[in-house]
Amino acid sequence: MVDFPYPYRPGQRGLVGFINRTIRQRGCAVVEAGTGVGKTITSLCGTVGYARDHGMKVLYLTRTKSQQKQVIRESAAIGDGILCVGVQGRSASSCPLMRDDPELSSGTSEEISKLCSEYKRKGDDGCHCPYYSAIESTDIGSWVERVRRDHPEPEDFSKLCEDSGLCPYEMVKYVLPEADVIAVPYPFVFMPQVLDRFIQWLGVPLSKTIIVVDEAHNLPDYLREVQTCECSMRAMELAEKEAGDNGDPEVHDGMTVTDVIAVTKEVLSLAVREYLIDDDGMLPPYFLQEELMSRLGLTSNGLSKVFKAMEEIGDGIAERKKQRRKLPRSYIMSMSRFMQAWVLGDEDLYVRLVVGEYNPKFQSYCLDPSGASGPLNECHASVHMSGTLEPLDAYAIEMGIERPSFLRLGGMFPPENLLKLYSDEVTMNYEERYTEPNYGILRRLIVDSVSAVNVNTAVFFPSYQFMERMVSEGIVDELGRDIYFEEKGMGQSDLMETVENFSMAEGGVLFCITGGRISEGIDFPADSLEMAVVVGVPFPKPTAKLRALHRYYDIRFGDGRRFISTIPATRKLRQAMGRVIRSETDRGVVVILDRRISSLGGLDSILCRDIPVAVKSFFSNDG
Ligand code: SF4
Repeated sequence: MVDFPYPYRPGQRGLVGFINRTIRQRGCAVVEAGTGVGKTITSLCGTVGYARDHGMKVLYLTRTKSQQKQVIRESAAIGDGILCVGVQGRSASSCPLMRDDPELSSGTSEEISKLCSEYKRKGDDGCHCPYYSAIESTDIGSWVERVRRDHPEPEDFSKLCEDSGLCPYEMVKYVLPEADVIAVPYPFVFMPQVLDRFIQWLGVPLSKTIIVVDEAHNLPDYLREVQTCECSMRAMELAEKEAGDNGDPEVHDGMTVTDVIAVTKEVLSLAVREYLIDDDGMLPPYFLQEELMSRLGLTSNGLSKVFKAMEEIGDGIAERKKQRRKLPRSYIMSMSRFMQAWVLGDEDLYVRLVVGEYNPKFQSYCLDPSGASGPLNECHASVHMSGTLEPLDAYAIEMGIERPSFLRLGGMFPPENLLKLYSDEVTMNYEERYTEPNYGILRRLIVDSVSAVNVNTAVFFPSYQFMERMVSEGIVDELGRDIYFEEKGMGQSDLMETVENFSMAEGGVLFCITGGRISEGIDFPADSLEMAVVVGVPFPKPTAKLRALHRYYDIRFGDGRRFISTIPATRKLRQAMGRVIRSETDRGVVVILDRRISSLGGLDSILCRDIPVAVKSFFSNDG
């Protein structure tokens, strides 16, 4: 094993040993480790030495750029010549030839990859990308040693390459075969078409990798999303226009592409009228296929041929765009692929939905995350870490992980530093949340809790809609404090600026969303956040999708409510609560406004009928 680069804190030596023993046995370490345990450094120290000794690589899966940087920094701290490289998802912004073209900024990784291959293709006048052709005369060995020595973060590596006239994306591929640790986003492992290419670049098969999943509590939802596909009314309109611009080709006996799209739009409108209730609606089995067959006068075989023909037409359009160095996108191709996936998706594993009102869409939603978790069983071993992964056995079952070993480590910080209170005067139950007197009491409790002390406080609302309603009814004036907002669709830099301004404020109030980016991924050290008011236990909304999930988990595991409602709500709540205490000297209060908290075990919150008094008392005692 490599040496641990810091003095061990309680629990760390044991955790490194546990991970190391598990990977030696080709197992899967499933670990809940609270704040301060040092998840990145312990998982690296438990895996890297073994990987190097056995010609393997550690694939460290991250969801954010800051987690990726942390992996590179901790690998550098271990030293010992470890080569760690960060690979980022493909986009136009990572290509010096494409980044200034606004049309390309929305390109998917697949589209950018196709366009890149057109630039790299050698014509009579040579390769059209100077950043690619310059690699041929580059001393790759010296670049590898430079990365090993300097541990550049991805942005720094890109800049170094571009300053030398080299393509950063291609240069990373040359470093990968030499790397011990590779920090990559989830899609590199869980999207089959990306994984195939990535494995070729690594130079070792998947069975020679050890996968570490950071923030693993996100993985089940992510894997469901990866397998879900959808097609919106807007996307159909774009496909219709594209067909018109390209001569509206025939796909079957006098039937053109726009004929098929027009009928599909009619069927979507019918689905909205007949089945949509609030957010979504479940469609009967074969609804879309049967409606299309009947309206277009086709058999199921005929319908499949029409989709195939549309895919070929779309493919041709994308190819012609690529040759003109335009974004190789075809809405006809996307729509036909969606239709084929919709028809082929297993009725037991996918629920067919109509979703949304303003830009409605068909959605084939995958119920089972384990369908995409195969790489976790094909690799040599894996490590799954999170501060909120409990119950660990449920995680392993849901993900279909083989040979799991479990370890729970509490936080490193004194539990008495965090006071957890809850009120049973209110509920955020969907039927009652806006009814009186519940809503009025809730509003008063928020104002009274925040106003009890002048410390930096985050109010976690259950949704933007709920937050906006409270704001439109004057809660900001009532609080009389500086308010900072997490806004819907906020860019990363705006979000970080808001968080920074709030952190530097004295007595600032941050309005944010439970389960949003602030509640999951942001650190608030010292007194930059001393109190959190969580408005409601974040049980999921009872939509058609949720009911389908519930039924599926009932059938598979005998307890849909536990998997679909109780566990996710508890994890989200613990994530939000965990923002308050980030070091051994932090002290703070969490107030939960929802009597349903009593139905969740293990959160140790205290029923309190006078929250302002309890909060004042806690802060007047400086510990
Ligand atoms: S090789 Fe690199 S620089 Fe050239 S087009 Fe592809 S991504 Fe862009």
